[in-house]
Amino acid sequence: MGRAFVYVILGGGVAAGYAALEFTKRGVPHGELCIISEEPVPPYERPALSKGFLLPEEPARLPSFHTCVGANEERLTPKWYKEHGIELVLGTQVKSADIRRKTLITASGETISYKILIIATGARALKLEEFGVKGSDAENVCYLRNLSDATTLVGLMKSCSGGNAVVIGGGYIGMECAASLVINKISVTMVFPEAHCMARLFTPKIANYYEEYYKSKGVNFVKGTVLSSFEIDTDGKVTAVILKDGTHLPADMVVVGIGIRPNTSLFEGQLTLEKGGIKVNGKLQSSNSSVYAVGDVAAFPVKLFGEIRRLEHVDSARKSARHAVAVIMEPVKAGEYDYLPFFYSRVFALSWQFYGDNAGEVIHFGDFSGSTFGAYWVHKGHLVGSFLEGGTKEEYETIAKATRLKPAIEDIAELERRGLGFALAISQKPPESTVAAIPQPDFALQKTIYPWHATAGVLVAASVAAFAYWYGRRRHKRW
Ligand SMILES: Cc1cc2nc3c(=O)[nH]c(=O)nc-3n(C[C@H](O)[C@H](O)[C@H](O)COP(=O)(O)OP(=O)(O)OC[C@H]3O[C@@H](n4cnc5c(N)ncnc54)[C@H](O)[C@@H]3O)c2cc1C
Repeated sequence: MGRAFVYVILGGGVAAGYAALEFTKRGVPHGELCIISEEPVPPYERPALSKGFLLPEEPARLPSFHTCVGANEERLTPKWYKEHGIELVLGTQVKSADIRRKTLITASGETISYKILIIATGARALKLEEFGVKGSDAENVCYLRNLSDATTLVGLMKSCSGGNAVVIGGGYIGMECAASLVINKISVTMVFPEAHCMARLFTPKIANYYEEYYKSKGVNFVKGTVLSSFEIDTDGKVTAVILKDGTHLPADMVVVGIGIRPNTSLFEGQLTLEKGGIKVNGKLQSSNSSVYAVGDVAAFPVKLFGEIRRLEHVDSARKSARHAVAVIMEPVKAGEYDYLPFFYSRVFALSWQFYGDNAGEVIHFGDFSGSTFGAYWVHKGHLVGSFLEGGTKEEYETIAKATRLKPAIEDIAELERRGLGFALAISQKPPESTVAAIPQPDFALQKTIYPWHATAGVLVAASVAAFAYWYGRRRHKRW
């Protein structure tokens, strides 16, 4: 039993959806493309699972967040795939791959062969058992990686309203779940071993802002320790979480967000791996020229930093998928992948974006007692990373542009003083002048920024309650 396709995408997540759209834009003939996914639904915008999906009122539900609504593109429903002659093989796990024979074998024993394979298998949530703690299978313990996990989480939240939740992990899954639990009227304690939340990205100063905000919403933080075991009742439900430092936390439910592991196992020994993922070149091609890798599973050269990186963020999944398809369909025209790392999160009424690399010396700017502030990272004399909380669309675009230009920084104090004004000035200069000194303060620019900020500060303060209400109701429509 078997089927053959010209192009096969293995995995049906974010990258698969964006790759499918790109294939159709580039005129893939009907019947040539197939997507195989373990999940029972076509590709969707995974970040919605920890945001709009968890809202108590008007929650986001499929089909509303199928890819590619997150990039303001078409929403690819099952009907869309049918109309475009794309074969969806859903609810099907691929159990083995033979790169030499160009075949995949599914759990039901079907052989699917390809001429070109795109690996888009993403990652899986790390389990507590991998850290020596038992209890993942208790009915009130959940993870959050796919639709099935999110559905379990919603069920648990409904049954625990007014109760206590313990969130294990202080990364973005932990932070976003904690916010959603609070919005669902559940008391939350977050537990993580680091000194502050989002330790891989946030500086202590940035983290402090978010932790204080969370505390104002009733979230309790237990830092610098880890989960040791669960107290489980005779029904198999966790009733308390015991920490290494001896703390005993009563729990009606537990959410675990302790990291992910790329799904590479099918290809170990067949393709070159690096940084935990499948190593690809600037064309997103693996060590076998018929096999491409995109999204969370791909370790690719980030030209800007001259290094191989593996990223675990949605923008990278979308863009790498599109680029791989461009290379496959128009190999002569498509250049090398040149990606500026970007990630974001939205919690409560807060919203931040980060571009580039958080390496080197950090320079904070803005008003940490207000609603708009940020940070720059300067490494080997150049600006390499920018973070902004509470920015406008234009301000986010500005920091992105400035970070991509990697301007030389000669005067750190001046950079700190100018804050966002620096990025604005640098992003408006022609590229060749950006490697010179920091541009001198420009009165005209300052005038356009600072009075705006003053006005915006007043407006934001006055409308924060209204915004929080609006955001809570609306944000599920933004992926
Ligand atoms: C809850 C949540 C919230 C997030 N929020 C944000 C955010 O706010 N900002 C941000 O930048 N990023 C966020 N991310 C990360 C982002 O969603 C991922 O980077 C993105 O989904 C990666 O896309 P991908 O296609 O590589 O992998 P995935 O979207 O994970 O898709 C992989 C697919 O492959 C399938 N698969 C794997 N192995 C097999 C197999 N052997 N056979 C068949 N199918 C298989 C899986 O079932 C899955 O459908 C979030 C992630 C999660 C889980």
